[in-house]
Amino acid sequence: MLYLDNSATSKINEEVLEAMLPYLKEEFGNPSSKYYTLAENAKKAVETARHHVASLLGCETDEVIFTSGASESNNMVLKGVTEYYANQGNHIITTNVEHPSVQETCQYLEQKGTRVTYLEVDKYGRIDVEELIEKIKEDPPILVSIIWGNNEIGSLNDMKLVSDICAKNNIFLHTDATQVVGKVHVDLNQYPGITFLSCSAHKLQGPKGIGICVIKKHPDGYRTKLTPLIHGGGQEFDYRSGTLAVHNIVGMGKAAELAEEHQEEHYTHLSELETYLIEILNDKLDGKITLNNDNKNKIPGVLSIQLHGINNELFIKKVSNVIALSTGSACSSTKPSHVLSAIGLDIDQIRTTIRFSLSADIKKEDLDIFKSL
Ligand code: PMP
Repeated sequence: MLYLDNSATSKINEEVLEAMLPYLKEEFGNPSSKYYTLAENAKKAVETARHHVASLLGCETDEVIFTSGASESNNMVLKGVTEYYANQGNHIITTNVEHPSVQETCQYLEQKGTRVTYLEVDKYGRIDVEELIEKIKEDPPILVSIIWGNNEIGSLNDMKLVSDICAKNNIFLHTDATQVVGKVHVDLNQYPGITFLSCSAHKLQGPKGIGICVIKKHPDGYRTKLTPLIHGGGQEFDYRSGTLAVHNIVGMGKAAELAEEHQEEHYTHLSELETYLIEILNDKLDGKITLNNDNKNKIPGVLSIQLHGINNELFIKKVSNVIALSTGSACSSTKPSHVLSAIGLDIDQIRTTIRFSLSADIKKEDLDIFKSL
């Protein structure tokens, strides 16, 4: 089976699995307990993982908050900031191509009285920063939330510019970087405007059910406040409660360590695989393909392609015993993808679109399977 749905989830790396196993077996201690070896070992393992994540993202270890995944991190920031800073404003600016965990949360907040501005995007799914500046001027928001790299088409927003704008205007910036972390260099030191970042382990060959919410401290060292989503024992610096899932945290840490080590080589390999796949599809379909994504400033290994004259659902079903593909997130005959609609595709173009999301362990020759379909 050729697995080309890595944007949905990725196969756990063997080294990650090996690192996790002891914490599901003999090393079962609770890191919040004290003094005895099992607890101290668990605590050390969590801190090592936190260190690897902080190193990958360019932040301090105590700015790394473990959550159950990017959906939780996104909910935590949007709801937590809105509630905590309610007396300072109730306007959020986001985009119309966010993941449902941002989009639906915004819609929920709107029902509760928050005003949300949804920025439109260009044909590659990127926001227009001039429009962002205008909207900030018109009605200064308490939070801007912009997806870094799109999960359906792979385009990257210019987060450097967005970060500078938010820093200059002293506005909290959150970014959903779930598809980007581990694939594109993210060094938060270079993005001083970003206060919150969400990501998830299972997109970078880690386990499911574990993610990160980075919450940057103020430059003066004070912690950024927000209302917690989950109240309780306050295990994660009082931002989030719940007994830490040590095995998953260890897995996230190992995945982050490996991602940092191999990022550049994977970037090059994935870019080569992409070019090769496009060549094959182009030959096979006599040039009757259209790329929905830009071929620069994108997540390596994510392609969204219209295969003219081919119904996407029928195609992915037909090949499903040999290739795992998807049409893109949440696209069905009754509910077309909001991302593909937002970039201006009509229903016929959406119905021919397939998302190919590659992984670094694929070899070029694996893709030859498309020649014989
Ligand atoms: N944001 C983006 C951009 C995603 O692609 C995903 C996963 N599909 C999520 C958030 C949610 O991540 P998780 O499954 O870890 O909650």
